[in-house]
Order: sequence, then C-alpha cells, then structure tokens
Amino acid sequence: MTIQVPEAAKRIIEQLNTNGFEAYVVGGCVRDSLLGRTPEDWDITTSAKPEQVKGIFKRTVDTGIQHGTVTVLIDHEGYEVTTYRVDGEYEDGRHPKSVEFTGSLLEDLKRRDFTINAMAYSDREGLVDAFDGVKDLEGRTIRCVGNAVDRFTEDALRILRAIRFSAQLGFDLEEETRAAIAVIAPNMAKVSKERIQVELTKLLLSDNPGKLKCVYENGIGPYISDHFEHAGRRLLEAEKLAWLPLKKHLRWSGFLRLEEPQDAVRILKELKLDNETIHQTKTLVSLWKTEIPADKAAIRQVMSGLSPELFQDLLCFQKVFCPETYKAQLNMVEQYSGEILSAGDCIRLKDMAVTGRELMDAGMKPGPEMGAVLDHLFQLVLTQPECNNREYLMKSAEHLLKEQA
Ligand code: ATP
Ligand code: MG
Repeated sequence: MTIQVPEAAKRIIEQLNTNGFEAYVVGGCVRDSLLGRTPEDWDITTSAKPEQVKGIFKRTVDTGIQHGTVTVLIDHEGYEVTTYRVDGEYEDGRHPKSVEFTGSLLEDLKRRDFTINAMAYSDREGLVDAFDGVKDLEGRTIRCVGNAVDRFTEDALRILRAIRFSAQLGFDLEEETRAAIAVIAPNMAKVSKERIQVELTKLLLSDNPGKLKCVYENGIGPYISDHFEHAGRRLLEAEKLAWLPLKKHLRWSGFLRLEEPQDAVRILKELKLDNETIHQTKTLVSLWKTEIPADKAAIRQVMSGLSPELFQDLLCFQKVFCPETYKAQLNMVEQYSGEILSAGDCIRLKDMAVTGRELMDAGMKPGPEMGAVLDHLFQLVLTQPECNNREYLMKSAEHLLKEQA
C-alpha cells in the first residue's frame, strides 16, 4: 500500500532519517489517504526529541513543546512533528498528568484513540498498522485501541470524537466501543464546553449530522447540560439536517428549531459558540415557522430585517422543514424575492431616497417625530417601491409633519 505523501512532508521524514531517527506520517492523514479523502494536514511522528527536531530544521515553532510537538516550516507551510510519546496517568478524565517520550513507534500508536487513527506510514517502511486499522476502515467501524472503557475513562472527549468520526465517515461504532460510551457518558461533565462544542459543530457539519441522535441515545445529553438534554427530546427528523447547506448556523438552527429562541440562545451560549452564529441561529429559530405571504410588500418587509444572506438561508431552511402545503407559496416567495433584488427595490433604510440629514437640511428638527416620519416613509417605500424618489418623499414628509402638528 502506498500513500502519496506531499513533497515537504517527505523531505522532513528523509532529513530525520538521515540524522538517524525514525519518522512517519501518522493519524488522520493516513486514515484519510487510505479512504481516498484529502487530508487536512499531515502530521509527522518521530523518534527524535523536540530539541533534536529543532536542531535539524532551520525554521521551527514551539507549538506544543511540552507535549513534544514542534512545527517545522517548509515553504511557509507548517508541519507538526511530534516525538513518540506515551501519556502518563490521566488525572481529570481529560489530561494526562505527564507525557513521556519513548523510542517505540508502537507505544506511540497505542496511546491513540481509534484503530483507524493509529496507523503510520513512510515510503521506507510502508504502512504500520498494529491495531487492524485497515480492517476497520474496510468494515467501516470506529473501534478503540485497546480496552474501550479504559480509553474513554482516560479522556472523555474521545466519546464525542468517536461519534463525530462516525458521522464524518459514515461508519458505525463497534459494539464494545458503543457500550463503553454509554457507561462512561457521565465523564462528559469533565470536558470543557469549548471542546464539546468543537466536536458537536464538526458532527453537525458532517455528511451524517443525524448521528447527533447517538449522543442522546447513549445518555450523554445530561452531562453536556440540562438544556442540551432537553433539546434532544425534540430532535425530530434528525436525518433532514443533512439537507441543509454546510453552514454552522444552519445546522445548529436545524437541530434547535423546535426550541424557544431564548432557549436555543442559552444552549449556544453555554457551549461558547461565537456571537454571530448565536445571532443568526436565534433569527432563524424565531422566523422559520412563519409562512411568508407570496406578496412583494410582505416579502420586502421580511427582507428589510435580514441580511441578504440570512434571508436566503431562511428560504433554504423553510424548504427543508416547512409543511408540503407551503411549498408552492415558498416557490413564489423565492421567485418574487429574486425579482425584488434584480429590480433594485429599496429594502434598507439606508437606500431610501431621503435621509434624516436631508430632512434636517429642510428645516425639520431631529428627534422622535423625525424618526417616526422616516419610519413611515420607509414603510411606504416597502409597499410601493416606485415612491422611492426624493421629491415625492420630501412632500410626504412635510405632509406627515403637518398632520402631526
Ligand atoms: P481531523 O480530520 O479531525 O483533524 P485527526 O485524526 O487528524 O482528524 P486530530 O484531532 O487532528 O484528529 O488528531 C490527530 C491524531 O492524534 C489522531 O488521528 C489520533 O491519532 C490522535 N489523537 C487526537 N486526539 C486524541 C485523543 N483525545 N486521544 C487519543 N488520541 C488522539
Ligand atoms: Mg488533524
């Protein structure tokens, strides 16, 4: 079996070899290459100690020197080179107390989480597959290296990694591994919310986001949070999440769509999602159940409250989750919104032919009344885009002010 290793990674391995050390590409890149997927990055494992790695290469960065990781820069690309290591005792269900370097590749592979992630490769030595990773790739199986209960006890994040890889690759959890997940689920309480979020987001953005069900079926929900567990009880038609485009806020919104918007926000905040995703998700969860009338004035109204992208996302979302009876109307809404955009109808206050500044220049006093006038004009323009000209709007403004006086 050969793997097409990028030239730069080959060079690093060769240089380490020339200096008397062993070196291999390892982990995710080997797994993905064997699956015919494009690896995200190429990690290298070596018998050289970090100081020795730094002595061999001109440009290096100490990325995780305490864990034995040095980044080697080749043509402005970074390659993580990590010394063979064994993890010491795990103290908090997440972090090893210490890491020890070892001269043995086998020891290094043994500490890795799943058989499919525990393979190494070099052109010189070929594939090193001590735990039947290839067999599990062929059987499309996620299986722990060694005793599953022990491995999840050492590091509970592996529980979510297992489910996330099964979603990304479309693999099943091997039965002993799955059973151990259910047993060790309470340890998820020890894992930081950020790390949980990163795994859940990867899971949602995978080809099989419906695997989120596994998280709940194995009793992990309550150990993430009460609100998160609650949302799981409403995780209906999870397989439909796969029909949503690959955007973070769309996938999270799909999952949380039946929550009250403020409950969705609470879950996302607990999990430390970024503010933009929280805002977008809140908006979609709030709006998706409301049918948009097939009427241009009403459509402009909805468009005026959203960025163009979020409006498109809302239509996408409704296509996936709204009832059949709304589909024909939704098609009209889509067509009309396209026409609104190509006609350049005013749907933003800032695109109105008259601004507050101009009203002031015409002698109107700033204040709540002027705000009300501007708002009134904007509503007029949303209903009748042909009214969006300066002369007409100035006249209407004067008229409105007279009425108010
Ligand atoms: P991805 O495509 O998500 O990057 P990956 O397999 O490269 O997948 P990383 O998190 O980048 O995953 O980790 C690289 C390798 O380090 C893994 O393939 C695995 O061998 C090992 N590894 C990472 N996290 C753990 C962990 N928590 N426990 C044991 N081994 C781990
Ligand atoms: Mg990786």
